[in-house]
Amino acid sequence: MVTKSKDLRTGRSVWEASRATPVPHRRLTRDIETEVLVVGAGITGAIVADALSHEGFEVAVVDRRGPAKGSTTASTALVQYEIDTPLHKLARRIGRRDAIRAWRRSRLAVDAIAARLGELGVRGLERRDTLYLAGNLLDADGLARERDARLAAGFACRMIRRSELRHEFGIHAAAAIMSHGDLALDPRLATCALLRGASACGARIYAPVDVSDIDAKKSRVLATCKNGRTIRAKHLVLATGYEFPNRVPQRGHRIVSTWAIATARQPRRLWPSQCMIWEAADPYLYARTTPDGRVICGGEDEDFSDETHRDALIAKKTRALERKLHRLVPGIDSRAEFAWTGSFGQSAAGLPTIGPIPGMPNCWAALGYGGNGTTYSRIAADVICGALTGRPDVDADLYGFRRARR
Ligand SMILES: Cc1cc2nc3c(=O)[nH]c(=O)nc-3n(C[C@H](O)[C@H](O)[C@H](O)COP(=O)(O)OP(=O)(O)OC[C@H]3O[C@@H](n4cnc5c(N)ncnc54)[C@H](O)[C@@H]3O)c2cc1C
Repeated sequence: MVTKSKDLRTGRSVWEASRATPVPHRRLTRDIETEVLVVGAGITGAIVADALSHEGFEVAVVDRRGPAKGSTTASTALVQYEIDTPLHKLARRIGRRDAIRAWRRSRLAVDAIAARLGELGVRGLERRDTLYLAGNLLDADGLARERDARLAAGFACRMIRRSELRHEFGIHAAAAIMSHGDLALDPRLATCALLRGASACGARIYAPVDVSDIDAKKSRVLATCKNGRTIRAKHLVLATGYEFPNRVPQRGHRIVSTWAIATARQPRRLWPSQCMIWEAADPYLYARTTPDGRVICGGEDEDFSDETHRDALIAKKTRALERKLHRLVPGIDSRAEFAWTGSFGQSAAGLPTIGPIPGMPNCWAALGYGGNGTTYSRIAADVICGALTGRPDVDADLYGFRRARR
């Protein structure tokens, strides 16, 4: 077994209310060969496959469920460059130079995602400002330290005080940092568009195909599937999301549970500029809007991964999110029309694991963690593409296994 199948998400996410143009895929009925095999057809596999097939690689993508059927559809899809770990805290953890590199790289990744999805004509993309609100992890003084660190690193941002938050945004909090250049999207639409983009460049997509064994040698990688078929590849990319591959070192990573809701459409009641909202708190709360005027709100994370327990809490967590959203933005109707839950990965520093897998020649991990999963998927594509085309990525060392174990 390569990855243990999990119940990744439960409930109906807001993205499932609309139709995504289907992604052409087929069953694997014979043994095949390819240059690169991507395991996982979520947002990560899609970005990687799109990038590699555009570089001219022959790519095959397989998924045990199907395109965008894993945690991607649970994502609330705030695509942010602001890493879960504040810049000044990340600097303490991994050094100032590397922390700034990681933040800058995320900024580039968000721009690259927006540019590629724009080229593909994906509907509903919205560039957004973000309000990072004071909470029990960073009070107003802590936010001021974070603002200073960001400004010193060249990230435009400003402090917003309580009265401006209340009068300009209708938001109740002690202080906030306003930053710019994030992205809101529909993760299912984006993934399907990227997979179709890869397909248009020759990538073949197979589902349902469950990879049950990987035999990695210097000369080739052989993936055996549950139905007995084999896929022979020069390189293999594991983009299996929170179904973490069992042969991949994973110290510092853990799976927690998270919940989200989406309200009814209410375009006239939304806050000005519809910036994304993120609390520096534990448990945290975050919110964004959708192009048709809903509010998506999530958080309430719990430090356990048991799916039965997670699912049993949906009603209770929905009420908690409704209550907290109402307290934060009293002017909106916070009642949930959609409620869902999912497993969610976290890493100690908030950085992903991307790079060649120790002990598995020609195999790559593209495992993005935390609230910046989508941003990290883009970085994974850059790092892997760079390595396979002989143009090593200058930031690859930030995300490799040596770093992940720190
Ligand atoms: C409620 C919630 C809110 C979130 N909000 C955000 C957010 O606002 N912003 C953000 O950036 N991220 C967010 N995330 C995280 C985001 O969802 C993940 O980063 C992202 O979905 C990971 O995508 P992926 O493609 O790596 O994983 P997935 O979408 O899970 O895709 C992995 C695929 O691999 C397949 N697979 C696994 N093992 C095998 C195998 N052995 N053989 C074949 N196929 C296999 C699975 O079937 C699956 O389809 C959120 C997550 C949750 C649960």
